[in-house]
Amino acid sequence: MAIVSLHGVTKTYPGRGRDSAEVTAVDDVTLEIEQGDVFGIIGYSGAGKSTLVRLINALEPATAGRIVVDGVDITLLRERRLRAVRGGIGMIFQQFNLFSSRTVRANIAYPLKLAGWSKADIDERVSELLRFVGLSDKARAYPEQLSGGQKQRVGIARALATRPAILLADEATSALDPQTTHEVLELLGRVNREQGVTIVVITHEMDVIQTIATKVAVMEGGRVIEQGEVFEVFSRPQNPASQRFVGTVIKGIPSPAERAALRARHDGRLVTFSFRDGDSSQAQVFLDLAKAGLDFELVYGGINDIRGRAFGHLTLAIRGADADVDAALRTIGVHADVTELADDADLANGEVR
Ligand code: ADP
Repeated sequence: MAIVSLHGVTKTYPGRGRDSAEVTAVDDVTLEIEQGDVFGIIGYSGAGKSTLVRLINALEPATAGRIVVDGVDITLLRERRLRAVRGGIGMIFQQFNLFSSRTVRANIAYPLKLAGWSKADIDERVSELLRFVGLSDKARAYPEQLSGGQKQRVGIARALATRPAILLADEATSALDPQTTHEVLELLGRVNREQGVTIVVITHEMDVIQTIATKVAVMEGGRVIEQGEVFEVFSRPQNPASQRFVGTVIKGIPSPAERAALRARHDGRLVTFSFRDGDSSQAQVFLDLAKAGLDFELVYGGINDIRGRAFGHLTLAIRGADADVDAALRTIGVHADVTELADDADLANGEVR
C-alpha cells in the first residue's frame, strides 16, 4: 500500500526581483512510496529534493498535482488538519536542529509535551527511546557535549517520539564522517525493520542509497528522471545523470581517466559486459568470443553486492577483424549487456559510458 503518493506534482516559486522568471523547483513529479519502504531521493544541489520534502511534509502547498499522505489528500486541506498530518511525519536534519539549552531528555520530550502527553507517559517514552538509540547514559547531557553521531541519534529519538508512520531524513548524514554515517544508517535500518517506520532519505550521496534504500528516485532539474528498485537502477541505470550517480559508487566501470589509460595500454576494442545474478553467464561470453576466433584480454572489472544480490562489469580488449567482432557482440548482446566504450572524442565531451 502506498503511504505517500504524488501525482503530477509541480511547485513553482515567483522569481526573485522584478521581471525575473518563476522557478519551477519541482516539475510534474509522480511517485509512490510504499508502506515499509526505505525510499531514497537522490540529486545534486538544486535538483528540487528539499522542496519535495516540504511538499510531502505539508509545509508548503503544491502549485499543481495531488499529494496523498497516509490515506489523506493533503492538497486541499486547511491548516488545522495539516497540523495533524505533520504529526504523523518525523523529520531529521543535516544540522540536527536540537535545542542547545535543553538536555538530551528534554529535547526528546519536547514533541510529546507539545502533543499534551502526561509527565509519567513522557518519562516512560523518553527512557524507551534513549534505550533504543543507545544513549541512556546521556539523558542529562547537553547537545554540545555530544559527538555528531550522538546528536543525530537524539534527533532520531525526538523524531520518533510521537510514533510517526513516516520518517523524513533530509541529508541526515551529510555532516558526519563515514564511520558515523554508517552507524546512523544502521540505526535508521533498525527503525525501519523493528518499528515498521517508512523512511524517506534525501541525499546527494549515492553510498547512502546503496547502504540503506530499497527504492530510489533520481531527481534533476525538478523532475524525477529515473526511479525503481535500488538493484535495478544500480545495475542498469538508464539515464546519463543516473549513470553518473551510480558510477560514483559501483565497481567495475572504468572512469574516463581509467578508460584513457586502458586505451593507451591495450590494442583492440574495449567492450564492457554487464552481468546480473541469474540472468546471464560470463562463461557464455568467453565461449562466444572464442568460437568467433577472437583474441581477447580481461583488462578491468568489478563485482557489486546490493543486499545479497550481485552484479558486475567486465571490460575486455578484443582483437580481430571489425566485422567478426561486430558479429560476436551481436550474438553476446542477446544474453548480456554489451557496452562498447566511447571513443576518446566522446571522453573529451565528458560522456560517462
Ligand atoms: P535541493 O534540495 O535538491 O538542493 P531545492 O528544493 O532546495 O533543491 O531547490 C530547487 C530549486 O528551487 C532551486 O533552483 C532553488 O533555488 C529553488 N528554490 C527553492 N526554494 C525556493 C524559494 N523559497 N523561493 C524561490 N526559489 C526557491
